[in-house]
Amino acid sequence: MKRITTWLLAFMICTLPSLCRAWHDETHLAIAKVAGYEKWYNAAGADIAKIKADAVEKKNHYVNNPPGTVVTSEMVLDQADRYNKPNDLKGHLYGAIIASIRQYRTTTQTGKYAEYHLAFCSHYVGDLSQPLHNTLYNDYNRRNHTATDGIIEGEALYNLALIEVYPINIQSEEDLAVEVARIANLSLNLGYKLELEGRMMSRQEAYEQISHSASLFRGILGWLQK
Ligand SMILES: [Zn+2]
Repeated sequence: MKRITTWLLAFMICTLPSLCRAWHDETHLAIAKVAGYEKWYNAAGADIAKIKADAVEKKNHYVNNPPGTVVTSEMVLDQADRYNKPNDLKGHLYGAIIASIRQYRTTTQTGKYAEYHLAFCSHYVGDLSQPLHNTLYNDYNRRNHTATDGIIEGEALYNLALIEVYPINIQSEEDLAVEVARIANLSLNLGYKLELEGRMMSRQEAYEQISHSASLFRGILGWLQK
């Protein structure tokens, strides 16, 4: 009953467009929760950081891949040095996943509190499966970006069973880069397919996409023994 009331309330609030700026936060939280991340509630933090850090943080959330791009694990690893660099026009989401884990591991070794690096990573892994974070910011992207971000917002946290986690085994940074490239290609191909067909992503496609993110983040947690 409580769940139904909360859902109803969320629905009512989210039918008022001006209050729904945070829609995509809950989708990020759902991904991290299903992945088994203990601090899943930090998974929207990287978007909060954007309003203060601006370009330093923004470029960590997307890659502008032209149509026909095939992302390779080498491309993923090459982007890691661009983490937090504000002057990168293309964006470096894939490298941000690699670099945030590097920072998590080095900070852990120094005995300091490393958790926020992993929180950033959980967010970037979520952005990886959003098709329009992997394609050019063209007319289609501009017109549909916010709506696509919000397609299952307000419901994802209540439909965790629709997020299907499959096993991803990561033993090294190279393994991780291969998986990031694989999901990046799925996402960018879907993005350009949607554009070609002139339509929005369906709910089912959205759940399929975030299932890749949740699976990858669970694989990362296993590698880090979290
Ligand atoms: Zn983001």
